[in-house]
Amino acid sequence: MNQILYNELLKIMSEEQVKTEEPMKNHTTFRVGGPAEFFVMPRTAEEVKKVIDLCRRESFPYYIIGNGSNLLVSDQGYRGVVLQIYKEMSYIEIEENVVVAQAGALLSAIANKALENGLTGFEFAAGIPGTLGGACVMNAGAYGGEMKDVLEEVTVLTEEGEVLIIPKENLELGYRTSIIARKGYIVLEARIQLREGEKEAIKSLMEELKDKRVSKQPLEYPSAGSTFKRPEGYFAGKLIQDAGLRGFSVGGAQVSEKHCGFVINRENATAADVAELMRQVSARVEEEFGVKLEPEVKRLGEF
Ligand code: FAD
Repeated sequence: MNQILYNELLKIMSEEQVKTEEPMKNHTTFRVGGPAEFFVMPRTAEEVKKVIDLCRRESFPYYIIGNGSNLLVSDQGYRGVVLQIYKEMSYIEIEENVVVAQAGALLSAIANKALENGLTGFEFAAGIPGTLGGACVMNAGAYGGEMKDVLEEVTVLTEEGEVLIIPKENLELGYRTSIIARKGYIVLEARIQLREGEKEAIKSLMEELKDKRVSKQPLEYPSAGSTFKRPEGYFAGKLIQDAGLRGFSVGGAQVSEKHCGFVINRENATAADVAELMRQVSARVEEEFGVKLEPEVKRLGEF
């Protein structure tokens, strides 16, 4: 462990906010991943900024995570600082028809707050198990809705330590991408524009979408959701299924039998198992159909 960096981190945050050699499998929905050399949980934008400044000054690598629900961390872990923007930065407020939330707020919590306040438009996101920050970066979406439809503006921190408020028109939100991802910005907060609605209707739509997820997705196993992006004109899950790969396994990782678009951690999978399974699935699909599958899941560490 880099003792100098540790001491510097403790000048920024309290001891309970700075963990060392923290197993990343405890912070990813895949439940795989080795230790992060430093794992920090900032409570304010100022703390985020100070940690980034420190890492840049010391040329020390850093990486932001939210709920780790779209993330595969190497078995060797990560030599650097993982900044988790999650429960410690998760306030949610309502200003008329706008939800103002910090990046660490869970989408499910925002959807529930919208429901409580009779606001409609966010039902699509209630079952996505990520944070608002993660959802803004990749323009998360489901069941015909996406963040692009509801974001009014996003407050980010640039690598140089500048705070920018980016209006929706300048976010360049596309399929699983945004300017935030391309520029390496850190999401601090966002404003979500919703509409007045009927509580009963909002609740019943949320329940309907939840039932769909439970019946279609292998939620009983750890995973990171859809493993591959949707190739234009196709569905990744259907291609994988048609290539005869339903239930195909490498070590403890498996193509879900319930939904071929999901790779699941069936039994004590390693990150290497998951990565090798993804490689073989991509190769088989390309061989069979000439379609290249691109991973949706982000990787951290050495593979
Ligand atoms: P993480 O996994 O922690 O991080 C993902 C990426 O975002 C990383 O590159 C990370 O650096 C970056 N990031 C995270 N927070 C910030 C921040 N504050 N600032 C800057 N960068 C940040 N996704 C969908 O779009 N639709 C779905 O329907 C869907 N269903 C899912 C179902 C299941 C069962 C699971 C496990 C996942 C599903 N996902 C889905 C994937 C995932 O939940 C989303 O991609 C979510 O937006 C990721 O958010 P996160 O906070 O977990 O991000």
